[in-house]
Amino acid sequence: MPCRIAIDGPAGSGKTTVAKILANRLGIYYLDTGAMYRIIGLYLDEKGVENDSDIEKELSTIKLEFINGDFYLNGKRVGDEIRTPYAGICASKYAKKAIVRKFLTRIQQKISKNENIVVEGRDIGTVVIPDAEVKIFLVASTEERAKRRYKELLDKGVNVSYEEVLNEIILRDKQDTEREIAPLRQPDDAILIDSTKYTIEEVINKILEVVLE
Ligand code: C5P
Repeated sequence: MPCRIAIDGPAGSGKTTVAKILANRLGIYYLDTGAMYRIIGLYLDEKGVENDSDIEKELSTIKLEFINGDFYLNGKRVGDEIRTPYAGICASKYAKKAIVRKFLTRIQQKISKNENIVVEGRDIGTVVIPDAEVKIFLVASTEERAKRRYKELLDKGVNVSYEEVLNEIILRDKQDTEREIAPLRQPDDAILIDSTKYTIEEVINKILEVVLE
């Protein structure tokens, strides 16, 4: 039986850091589905498409590949350009579209099928892998999440202000929880972890306890 670990939660809750370390410790694959929404969001924004038929046309020409842990869009490796607050807002804007979700969900399900894998996002335990062996819902206070995201971006050399990051997180929380299709919510059978009170190491140990149970 595969071991598929679904980690969902809002922006900046620590999902990415936790998921990466966890996958590394367990020696299994790691998939960042938020990166996929960022790639497609930025691409569609650049093309300036808004309505479903134009989006569908664009998606039909796109080749999004996942090779050795990296994403390639139309043959070109994707880098940190998708990590800006603006890319997050584009991701969240286009993530509301059923056509975009269908396109990405299909790729995500193909990648995670029968794999030992940690998959993180907003709808992993509810839509992408509803029968995941382990489901985690990771949360943290809004201020804590903004602080973490701000530090992360500064470390990467991205030029932003704390207020910009905080506003982006508040806007994305609203869009992600209020959208009609696959809104962010805790799956019924997920374990809730509030990372405000814990270090990354403590969060990982809590998840490992469940995985190795
Ligand atoms: O995880 P990250 O913050 O990089 O995700 C960027 C945006 O992509 C989210 O705010 C959300 O709108 C969208 N997303 C989603 N479903 C996922 C992963 C991300 O709708 N599974």
